[in-house]
Amino acid sequence: MNQEHKEQDTIFGKIVRREIPADIVYSDDLVTAFRDVNPQAPTHVLVVPNDPIPSVREVSTSHEAALGRMFTVAAQIARKEGVADDGFRLIVNCGDDGGQEVYHLHMHVVGGRPLGRMLPG
Ligand code: 5GP
Repeated sequence: MNQEHKEQDTIFGKIVRREIPADIVYSDDLVTAFRDVNPQAPTHVLVVPNDPIPSVREVSTSHEAALGRMFTVAAQIARKEGVADDGFRLIVNCGDDGGQEVYHLHMHVVGGRPLGRMLPG
């Protein structure tokens, strides 16, 4: 791991590198997917790029392969979890106002119950 990556290290980086445990449901050369430790619905999986992009703010064209893979894997997980037909939600929070807690970009795959309106209010 180079210095830049060390500075960007988070709990999700440790999960990607298998340094701490997680319920990993999928991984490949570009992304890792694992169950959220505090699920908000029957299916709640996080899909992260293996490279630690802090947030959507830092996304560049060099990340497009990983970002595209995140959608492919999210769709695959939704089918595997049996939530694809009824529908599900993909969420990417960014920054303080966006409610981002972990600064390693991640996509929430949430489903298995009616999720209601996209935003409260
Ligand atoms: P954010 O608010 O940043 O979009 O979402 C962070 C998510 O990461 C939350 O849903 C939270 O429950 C989840 N999370 C935080 N720490 C851990 C962890 O150590 N393991 C797993 N599997 N999920 C985590």
